[in-house]
Amino acid sequence: METAGQGRQAGGTPRAALAELLAGNRRFVSGQPVHGHDVTAAAAAASGDQQPYAVVLGCIDSRVPLEAIFDQTFGAICVIRTGGHVLDRAVCGSIEYVVGQLGVPLVLVLGHERCGAVGATVDALRSGERPGGSLAHLVDEIAPAVIEAGLDDPAVHPLAIRRHVRRTVDALRVDDLLAGPVAAGRVAVVGGLYDLATGEVTLLDPA
Ligand SMILES: [Zn+2]
Repeated sequence: METAGQGRQAGGTPRAALAELLAGNRRFVSGQPVHGHDVTAAAAAASGDQQPYAVVLGCIDSRVPLEAIFDQTFGAICVIRTGGHVLDRAVCGSIEYVVGQLGVPLVLVLGHERCGAVGATVDALRSGERPGGSLAHLVDEIAPAVIEAGLDDPAVHPLAIRRHVRRTVDALRVDDLLAGPVAAGRVAVVGGLYDLATGEVTLLDPA
């Protein structure tokens, strides 16, 4: 991994970084991406040193390719994807690296409608059958959001998706190496939701 002192000019503050990400999503939604056509080896080679301005943590869902939905080119954003954007030490360490070593001011946690990981957790809690293997880790980490949303609520799935984004944001805000920069206002951790039908990203707590 190479290091860089500063994020890109446009991403110097959390607010500017968030505005740039959301502008990219609007280009994607409107069908007018500027980078969508530019996924070439030449674009990769032109990216030069790594100077990302944001890190996005999302789900592995094949319908939510993060660079595409934010219309970002090579070198612009760091992307981490796990089932249901569940945290573990590798995920937290990766975000700590991007924030601490690359100077990235924004962490966006992106959930999405109809998330299968959240649905699987609802099913596991309702049936009482905890899955085996490491899949159990995903279910265990998502379960508190499902319980908070109300297992008997007919809308538990969409409600739990939102709760789980908020819980992930809250956990990152108090992470050992992120809490200081967050308290100082140098780094923001925000939550968003991706609409599979429209391609639109909305923030859970708009500024
Ligand atoms: Zn998902």
